[in-house]
Amino acid sequence: MWLTIHRGAEEIGGTCIELQSTDSRILIDFGLPLVDENRDPFDFRKIKNKSRENLIKAGILPAIKGLYKGEQPAVDAILLSHPHQDHYGLLSFVNPEIPVYLSHGCKELIEVSYFFGQTGYDLKNVKTVEKWKPFKVGDFTITPYLVDHSGFDALAFLIESEGKKIFYSGDFRGHGRKSVLFDNILKNPPKNIDYLILEGSMLGRDKGRYHTETDIENELTSILRKESDLFFVACSSQNIDRLVSIYRACVRSNHIFVLDPYTALILHKLKKISRHIPQFDWGKNIRLFFVPNGYTRKMAEDKSLFLFKSAKITYQEMQSIRNQLVIKDSHSTRQYFANKNGLSNTTLVYSMWDGYLSSVKPFWDKHNVPVLKIHSSGHAYIEELQKFVEAINPKYIIPNHTFFPEKYPEYFAGKIKMVKDKETVEI
Ligand SMILES: [Zn+2]
Repeated sequence: MWLTIHRGAEEIGGTCIELQSTDSRILIDFGLPLVDENRDPFDFRKIKNKSRENLIKAGILPAIKGLYKGEQPAVDAILLSHPHQDHYGLLSFVNPEIPVYLSHGCKELIEVSYFFGQTGYDLKNVKTVEKWKPFKVGDFTITPYLVDHSGFDALAFLIESEGKKIFYSGDFRGHGRKSVLFDNILKNPPKNIDYLILEGSMLGRDKGRYHTETDIENELTSILRKESDLFFVACSSQNIDRLVSIYRACVRSNHIFVLDPYTALILHKLKKISRHIPQFDWGKNIRLFFVPNGYTRKMAEDKSLFLFKSAKITYQEMQSIRNQLVIKDSHSTRQYFANKNGLSNTTLVYSMWDGYLSSVKPFWDKHNVPVLKIHSSGHAYIEELQKFVEAINPKYIIPNHTFFPEKYPEYFAGKIKMVKDKETVEI
């Protein structure tokens, strides 16, 4: 069997791994880069209106024959680990004759992103897979493992072919709301793994002050109980674990979580997957502000907005109960409040990756709103990675999804097999 890491051996983002056996060929993930060749943030405008040939030449799209639209397909399937753009963001270029295998939750979130124009990938040919239920693609047998990650319904894959066993960790952690999945892998790991392709996002990164989703929930609860400000909270509308933590803090501190219609729609779409995901009609701790913006208009046009009518709260109504509110931050919501001079006695809880803070900090500073950082990583800490490696005990570890592959020998006992981007190795 042959392995090629098209991208991700030496960086976080743009993940794409190829496995080829005698008769079959699959790709795992097909992501958008997060950084450019200088390790500066990737400029997404770079791919707008560019031809495929130019993007391949620029090294943004991998040079894979038989993958793209208009070519005779020479790839049997693409496996998606989870709905983060650095794992699926280039799929709009792929020939829709090639099936894409993903989890139910992954499909729902990618569909929402397509509906709102965040991506051009329209899910023409997808096959949803069941966790822990093996399926076949050519001579590959693939078993999806549900894992704990900030991306919803994320999967790792056990891939077997020609007597070899490969475990692709995908992105995962052991300190989220589904940490039991991590514990289960430690207790009952996949056996006799030849190659563990292991993410290492946290290598070279600080763990931060709050380590688990429960820490986030507890800290937010105690702040909300103490303070009488109006709270905004900045987090991704697709980070379901975090929305659950915030909702639970609101329940415990007797606050109301005010969502925008876009976020409420995402939660509604995932209702059939988990009954633990907060819904707009759950009662007194959750309401919706129909903030006038492009997303809300789009939902009004296709009538989905009206489903949420019963939970609506107006700006006027919010004024008399400001000290009971936790408002999901968005560009248009904060701007709406600012335009009405409604940001006095307000605190922002910033609950996402530090790297995005610089773009919003000037706004909050201008309105004299203090920023409290309460966040924990979507990725496994080094000690979690070590436990994972110890449990699986693979013959070889292949570094992936990391800026520091050279640090793997420092942290992990066992043989590290370094594979460079674009290098093809026999395994
Ligand atoms: Zn991810």
